[in-house]
Amino acid sequence: MKRTEIADVLKKQTQTHLNQSVKVQGWVRTRRSSKNVAFVALNDGSTINHLQVVVDLGKFDEALLKDVTTGACITVVGVLVESSGQGQAVEVHAEEIIITGTSPADYPLQKKGHSLEFLRENAHLRIRTNTFGAVFRIRHALAFAIHRFFNDKGFFWLHTPIITASDCEGAGSMFNVTSFDLNDVPKDAQGETDYSLDFFGKPTHLTVSGQLEGELGALALGKIYTFGPTFRAENSNTTRHLSEFWMIEPEMAFYDIIDNMNLAEEMLKYVISYILDNCKDDLVFLQERRAKEQMNKPKNEKDVMGLIERLEFVLQNPFERITYTEAYEILKNAKPNKKKQFVFPVEEWGFDLQSEHERFLVEKHFKKPIIITDYPKSIKAFYMKQNEDGKTVRAMDVLFPQIGEIIGGSQREENHDKLLQRIKEMNIDEKSLWWYLDTRKFGTAPHSGYGLGFERLMLFVTAMTNIRDVIPFPRAPLSAEF
Ligand code: ATP
Ligand code: MN
Repeated sequence: MKRTEIADVLKKQTQTHLNQSVKVQGWVRTRRSSKNVAFVALNDGSTINHLQVVVDLGKFDEALLKDVTTGACITVVGVLVESSGQGQAVEVHAEEIIITGTSPADYPLQKKGHSLEFLRENAHLRIRTNTFGAVFRIRHALAFAIHRFFNDKGFFWLHTPIITASDCEGAGSMFNVTSFDLNDVPKDAQGETDYSLDFFGKPTHLTVSGQLEGELGALALGKIYTFGPTFRAENSNTTRHLSEFWMIEPEMAFYDIIDNMNLAEEMLKYVISYILDNCKDDLVFLQERRAKEQMNKPKNEKDVMGLIERLEFVLQNPFERITYTEAYEILKNAKPNKKKQFVFPVEEWGFDLQSEHERFLVEKHFKKPIIITDYPKSIKAFYMKQNEDGKTVRAMDVLFPQIGEIIGGSQREENHDKLLQRIKEMNIDEKSLWWYLDTRKFGTAPHSGYGLGFERLMLFVTAMTNIRDVIPFPRAPLSAEF
């Protein structure tokens, strides 16, 4: 007999399987026994919903039933019938049970309600919980929606390299890639590491961004995007930073910063609406989870909206667009600044916005997503297009409630000489960027792009609060198990 997935079995609209024999396979979540029957909640990952399996204890061998324990993998053949009990529309009355994999009593996920910390230490099994099942099904849907959005708009997915030799984005925060025996590193005459003998003949790193290569693609294919892992060796042990995270980086020729902002807003709304349309059961579960988590919080720390309402709110409201200078004025005159409640007080124009400032603007002042543009050039990357004022660049950061920065982007400097001058001013090795500068030499064009942190967006759509809980196997300082 062919197996049917539980998502299929439970589909109400069709009910094709009702009063028929089905074969299901999955993992036992719970088992509840009364005198004559046992109720087994079976889950196979295809949906957050469990299938109730009713086992007539008289029909089966005691030795076999002993192994139907939490965590065990079983195969069940039985008739799907309407359920008279509460909590489910249908259930399977077992006629045959095969123990596919037993789960002894030391199975770590015995009872419900483990802490997220405990589950992080058991990341190899946490995917089997309701919470992480929901999170990772949504993660898939979100990635799919992103690909679909760009594909439908005529973008090409460009695969940029993970190993890179350019270190212009700050070598301090990059992981080195080498094939040297670290106990026996070759030295040159000056006693320095002789990279000419290393695998690539020069120092190489794991990429922090695919943007520079993405720009090469945009200036040939017109509109491209990257979607892949990026790496940062910064020692920031926060709930918003990973050492390995996924980034989506569209790059478009002939787009100015306004086009860029419009694209970012349209994309975010598209993918959020895709999740609302396609992941309802998982969202409802995560919304309830979040509400429970918030139960004992003081009123001023509670979410003002439930998860689904919050997602709908984002769809319905245009993002607020302000310049850095406007943001600076708001922050400088803000109550928490005057009352010295910011850890980083806002004084001089030109300071870099800290996460407390971003969150004040988004959560307290505007109460919706905002896009901040035209940042001081001193706090932004060398490739951003310089404004006429000589002080600011055409940067755009998208800030979300609860998350802070979710997107960082800009119109790029397309003028060769201005770009080169900025590279020199910032003491970046221009020789290693010869290929990048070539794009401004041969057929340069105005272009723009941005980087979306995939896990930051995941935080927003799942209402999870620690970025380590929205990637299957998180990489963070001192943490690379599994
Ligand atoms: P932040 O100031 O929050 O550290 P950033 O300015 O370093 O971010 P960018 O270099 O502009 O970020 O990267 C683009 C996007 O990638 C960010 O908007 C964010 O969504 C995401 N991102 C950056 N660093 C991390 C990280 N360590 N872990 C997860 N996502 C990240
Ligand atoms: Mn950072």
